[in-house]
Amino acid sequence: MYTLEPAVCADLINKSKSTVVLTGAGISTAAGIPDFRGPKGLYVTRRYDPELVFEIHNFHRSPEYFYEFTSDFASAVKDIDPTFTHGFLARQERAGLLAGIITQNIDILHQLAGSSNVLELHGSYRSATCQSCRTQLSELNYDWWIDSMRDSTRPPIVHCPTCGGLLKPDIVFFGESVNGYDRAEAMVSGCDLLLVLGSSLNVTPASLLPYSTSAATVVVNRGAVMLPPGPQRFFVDEDLDVYFRKVAEHVTF
Ligand SMILES: [Zn+2]
Repeated sequence: MYTLEPAVCADLINKSKSTVVLTGAGISTAAGIPDFRGPKGLYVTRRYDPELVFEIHNFHRSPEYFYEFTSDFASAVKDIDPTFTHGFLARQERAGLLAGIITQNIDILHQLAGSSNVLELHGSYRSATCQSCRTQLSELNYDWWIDSMRDSTRPPIVHCPTCGGLLKPDIVFFGESVNGYDRAEAMVSGCDLLLVLGSSLNVTPASLLPYSTSAATVVVNRGAVMLPPGPQRFFVDEDLDVYFRKVAEHVTF
């Protein structure tokens, strides 16, 4: 049995005028993107150490380590389609019922699903900045990264087309500040319904966002979540797509 029946969740969504969604890796695992930290995650299967892959000093010292991970990640991601739940959120936005999505993911599946108001707390591979001349390249995609790494010498490192400096994707590394946290906090504090999807809320500062609202909060995640119970908090331990297919039967948009 659910702690929040899908029909009741749908009722909350139907009544909401300003839903905000916070998503984590769990929303993308059904698409086939490995949860980095999960048992089948890239970090484990490919023996990448997450503390090193996204560690800024290590990036400058040994960029090939990050770029080898990027090569594997981009290969894994480029043929992947968004999940049912990604599509559900895009429909919600088109219906004018979604104030925005805040994501911890770097896989751009929300945008591929059709969502446009997406705040990427940890950045993404869609743009990159030269570490020497500070030129920013925008509107990149995974194909570009794959092609660029194929063109470069081994180990794969992508250099700035202008000056030849080291190119760093605009992903937030450990030791760097997340993007737009103040805006995320304002979004959450202004919502009338918060959906936390596929996040165990164990990475700060994203994990602090649910504390910014007293609105109804629905957390759907496989496994434990680092958020204490509250009068308006509902926890569902279920596969996201399984749950939201049932919710979708009851929504009116
Ligand atoms: Zn440059």
